[in-house]
Amino acid sequence: MYCYWNTNSTTRVRPEVVDVVKDYVDSSTNGTNFHNPSDITNASRRIYRSAIKSSREKVAELIGASENDIIFTSGGTESNNLAFHVGQNFVGRDGLIITSAVEHDSISLRCDYLKELGYNVYTLPVDNKGQINFEALDKIKISDRVFVSVMLANNELGNIYDIAKLSAIIRKKCSQALIHTDAVQAIGKMHADVKQLDVDMLSLSGHKIGAPKGIGALYVKEGVKITPLFFGHQECGKRGGTENIAYISALGKAAELVKSEMSDAYIQNLTNHRDQLEKNILEMCQALNVEAFVNGDIDNRLPNTTSITIKGIDNLRFLVELEAKNIYLATGAACSSSLCGNDTDPATIQAKSSRVLRAINHTHPQSVLRISVGDYYHLYTVEDATKHPEYITAAINYDVKLGCLDFSKVLKAHLNI
Ligand code: PLP
Repeated sequence: MYCYWNTNSTTRVRPEVVDVVKDYVDSSTNGTNFHNPSDITNASRRIYRSAIKSSREKVAELIGASENDIIFTSGGTESNNLAFHVGQNFVGRDGLIITSAVEHDSISLRCDYLKELGYNVYTLPVDNKGQINFEALDKIKISDRVFVSVMLANNELGNIYDIAKLSAIIRKKCSQALIHTDAVQAIGKMHADVKQLDVDMLSLSGHKIGAPKGIGALYVKEGVKITPLFFGHQECGKRGGTENIAYISALGKAAELVKSEMSDAYIQNLTNHRDQLEKNILEMCQALNVEAFVNGDIDNRLPNTTSITIKGIDNLRFLVELEAKNIYLATGAACSSSLCGNDTDPATIQAKSSRVLRAINHTHPQSVLRISVGDYYHLYTVEDATKHPEYITAAINYDVKLGCLDFSKVLKAHLNI
């Protein structure tokens, strides 16, 4: 029994993607596959160029973009930082940067730094469900240029944000606007199209969709002036550094698979899985007389995510106890704890408790659990799953039934019931 309910943190690498990576890193099967894609005389160069082009096309297709508007990066964090680099240079210190109170650390920590540097940064407040206050957005006076960055879906609560509405409000207020969305959590769980969202930049990350960690992309609309973070000739001068051909190809393959599996039935599967787990846990708590409730905007959230408060639990200790039973979930964002300093000390981690939960004025952040499902790649390839949807349904039912049995045992022991 192995329940992986932590896909917002990361996903397994899809088997089809592993095959692609092997082609580029295993030189025992292909003696020239280690060459540098930029070597001019190299016969492999043409193959590499066409592999990079094909990946760019697949990533672009997934988000309704043009191939030339995709820049490969080392992941969501770099994509967000590159977007901000472009955005802050666009507005300068006279313009305005708008973000929200529930962004990922790669954005909120950069905004803290930008404030120190003297940039005007306005943080949009959220309500107690974590939804953006559009009235506050409407009231903002924009006299010069504006750079706006608000995520498409939240990693901790699962909330989806209406970026198309936000873009419309901003563009009506200001003709000199640059709009970015962090779509790292949205991709693979909902449809996302850069034209429908009306954004100038969009970030995505490979390891949330079955590619390895350390690869991502930033969409930048044609015409937006890009100031690179890393100078060099690669990626047409927009992002220097020898191309990670294996992982770029892996991202292309994962994007192709996500595009092929993103049907209404797939989204329904995610929803059923999440809803069954949520219902079982809430009912289990009720039967034990333990107060429990769901956090966030339950009418407007990702199909795979639920954030549940179980009063009385100490989530860090509970997580360790669940892990002993091979059940993996999270307290919030994985990225809020890192592998440096004294961050393994529970007290330190607690002190750095989630910005998102603070933004919604959550009174029991130490009792919040995040469950995120959907990584079915280890069971079946996308082709098999499409041919046999009943396999996925059976796997979900098994996961819920056995997972909840152990969850209940661990909960009772944790609370001494
Ligand atoms: N943005 C969001 C919303 C995320 O959830 C994450 C990772 O959890 C990131 C950005 C960072 O992506 P990466 O891990 O690829 O750097």
